[in-house]
Amino acid sequence: DGETEAMTFDPSTKTYPRVRHLFFTKQKRILVTGGAGFVGSHLVDRLMKMGHYGNVRNIEHWLGHPNFDLIRHDVVDPFKIEVDEIYHLACPASPPHYQANPIKTVKTSFLGTLNMLGLARRTKAKFLLASTSEVYGDPEVHPQPEDYWGHVNPIGPRACYDEGKRISETLTYSYATHEQVDVRVVRIFNTFGPRMNPKDGRVVSNFIVQALHGEPLTIYGEGSQTRSFQYVHDLVDGLIQAMMGGYTLPINLGNPQEFTISEFATMVQEKVGGQVQIQYLPAVEDDPKKRKPDIMVASKEIAWTPKFSVEQGIEETIQYFKLLHDL
Ligand code: UDP
Repeated sequence: DGETEAMTFDPSTKTYPRVRHLFFTKQKRILVTGGAGFVGSHLVDRLMKMGHYGNVRNIEHWLGHPNFDLIRHDVVDPFKIEVDEIYHLACPASPPHYQANPIKTVKTSFLGTLNMLGLARRTKAKFLLASTSEVYGDPEVHPQPEDYWGHVNPIGPRACYDEGKRISETLTYSYATHEQVDVRVVRIFNTFGPRMNPKDGRVVSNFIVQALHGEPLTIYGEGSQTRSFQYVHDLVDGLIQAMMGGYTLPINLGNPQEFTISEFATMVQEKVGGQVQIQYLPAVEDDPKKRKPDIMVASKEIAWTPKFSVEQGIEETIQYFKLLHDL
């Protein structure tokens, strides 16, 4: 039965296993909001390769494929469509981007999620919310398990995103309880990989682009803050396994391999080659001091653990950025 088995990416061969069940899998109509984004486009690739039918926003290489529809639409406005599953990813996720227009970020989080849950209710579609490790804020518990309630400044510069995602979770479970929507919530920790925008502004793309240009790597603050980075192919496995599995409470998806930002700068510079040069810039307000996922729930409930080391993912991402013409 193809519906019970995710098609996971094999890091050693960098391929998807050939799966007989593909041909027996019931084709589903799947809506991916944010399908043109960094994570969304990788998810769409995987779903299309599994033989599903997609509706997304901007995936050029699938345009013209009979199983693919492109919808250009802002999730802040409702729309009607018949679907079986919704992966709700649409939202800016990089701090400089989501802080550039905080009102739009809040509207996207709240109204976008409200609209997609309304759609899920009407069409009886399964609904997966892409939430975030930012719901834990600047955590006082380390690593962060799903039952930690978080430590978020509700009026700080990150609030539009953090509180936006927290209310998205609240909405999602309200629809589950009161409208019988079949929901999944994943809390995504820092994710990187090919197709990140070089101007994304997050640490992985900044450091790789700076190292490739021979510029010093910019560290905000002292560099003692930590993050745990996962390769996007692992995340996509987790998204699909969460949707397929029966567990409805929040699930952390992240790689527990933890780096200080200083260690991470050294690692990236060594992979690119050349001398490590650092430019220290002022710390950003409300920057979480540490972050690392507890992934017991993912491992137990959806049999998910990351397969890629951060180093392998970084090497492949460096190769991707090297080939970009407009870097
Ligand atoms: N950071 C940094 N230099 C950069 C970009 C980010 O030192 O050029 C730091 C940032 O202050 C944070 C960490 O790297 O502590 C991760 O930042 P990012 O924006 O990638 O993601 P976040 O986890 O903060 O959402």
